[in-house]
Amino acid sequence: MREPGARDRLRKYFLEHLGEILDSDTLREAAGTSEWARRVRELRNEEGYQILTHNDRSELKPGQYLLENARFAPQPAFARTISKETRAYVLDRNGFTCQMCGAVAGESHPYDPTRKTRLHIGHIIDKSMGGTDDPANLRALCSVCNEGAQNLTLDRPSSEKLLIQIRRATGADQLKVLEWLIKKFPK
Ligand SMILES: [Zn+2]
Repeated sequence: MREPGARDRLRKYFLEHLGEILDSDTLREAAGTSEWARRVRELRNEEGYQILTHNDRSELKPGQYLLENARFAPQPAFARTISKETRAYVLDRNGFTCQMCGAVAGESHPYDPTRKTRLHIGHIIDKSMGGTDDPANLRALCSVCNEGAQNLTLDRPSSEKLLIQIRRATGADQLKVLEWLIKKFPK
């Protein structure tokens, strides 16, 4: 059975030692349990903390762990309320591909090649807006899109693409675009 609190102690310890290489003895002591390695896996897999090991970084030796920063962690509420089965179902349904930018799990990220794509489960309609944990309201999102950085990383649309969008817009919306352009380029 899971000892309550060990995962919380480890999470706190990692967050207090961001950027430090931590070894297994330290983590065992911080967790206060021989089950510490399983709790570290839960922080990685269920809560999304990017705790690096020798599998991720060549400078790390086996038994060494590193959390560089906390910004990759999703809202913990997401991870807790969605079952493993639902996560697996949604990831499979979405072809292990980010539904916003198309990044594929495990491959280097298209907008940030230094990062390996990790997928999270996100809500289509946010829970604060009444969205549920039903699979129909869930989708796979990469860390980058999950952080809301997608607007910064998406390529700017070409004029060709913009014109296509404008041509199929309503006349009223086309007028709004025209008004905006006239305002921006008065001469
Ligand atoms: Zn993405």
